Amino acid sequence: MFDKSTWIKLPRNVLVGHGVLDQLADAVAELYLSGEPLLVTSPSPDRIAGDRVRAQFGDISSVSLDRASFEAVERVVEIGREMDAGYLIALGGGKPIDVAKMAADRLECGFVSVPTAASHDGIVSGRSSIPEGDTRHSVAADPPLAVVADTELLAEAPWELTTAGCADIISNYTAVKDWQLAHRLQNVEYSEYAGALAQMTAELLVERADSIKPGLEESAWIVTKALVSSGVAMSIADSSRPASGAEHLFSHQLDRLAPGRALHGHQVGVGAIMTEYFHSGEKGDWRNIRDALSTMGAPTTANELGIDDETIIEAMTTAHTIRDRYTILGNGVSKEAAIEAATITGVI
Ligand SMILES: [Zn+2]
Repeated sequence: MFDKSTWIKLPRNVLVGHGVLDQLADAVAELYLSGEPLLVTSPSPDRIAGDRVRAQFGDISSVSLDRASFEAVERVVEIGREMDAGYLIALGGGKPIDVAKMAADRLECGFVSVPTAASHDGIVSGRSSIPEGDTRHSVAADPPLAVVADTELLAEAPWELTTAGCADIISNYTAVKDWQLAHRLQNVEYSEYAGALAQMTAELLVERADSIKPGLEESAWIVTKALVSSGVAMSIADSSRPASGAEHLFSHQLDRLAPGRALHGHQVGVGAIMTEYFHSGEKGDWRNIRDALSTMGAPTTANELGIDDETIIEAMTTAHTIRDRYTILGNGVSKEAAIEAATITGVI
């Protein structure tokens, strides 16, 4: 008997391009939402773009957050309840978007994502990551109702945020390989559509690596479209699997061992170089990953991440314990094997 079913949640309006921030109100109007919006932002994006949002929504309530935390989520939920917010508008880099995503889930309302940096795939996806103590919690929520990504604004963000976004996409390569492996060995459900889309997104980005340069607005365009595509792959799969494998486990472990040292995307990029080596050996594709990252100016070594060699090895040998997600790391990589992989790939 056929008994499969799927529920794919996607953003309804996705606007990417020069000056689209000024079409935010139009994009929202088309969603037929009711009630007042609550603007969730943080100080510097508010300074850069807050007034352009206010100009479209009039006297809008807003909350400015210093950092992403569960207390920040509580604050937004509280204010949202008090004013009976109809929906949230998240304006900023990762922090306000992660917080608004979780708060919207709690408030049972929708949110609109207005990224000011193309630094990770969370700007489009339904995945939220909130730090707590020395660890980060990944929470599943709904994806944004709309995404309004103004490339003029994104191109002005610090360059390392853009290269972090690129590296997060390139890591789809190894994430999809891990997913396929888990499907073959552990019967984990695999979606051909989501897998193919995530992989193709990474391949296209690698092919265009030399056109991703600081100061070029087109770079922000390329990266943002890829982040959207990656987010759609996660929505189709209803899982972060298309964009998160062993390289993400490695990065989560670095967040514990060396918190705040490097950007998420940069950590997963370096992780992908090593886990690709585990997948395909010395002659494998890890060189393509490394070369694409270095062409864009993203870190490819422990040193460039600002993390010492020992911590890299510890993160890789303990990454499999982080969560119940089967990857190429299996039951763990030995210290000797991790040192060899890191040395051959030039990470340490
Ligand atoms: Zn990521």
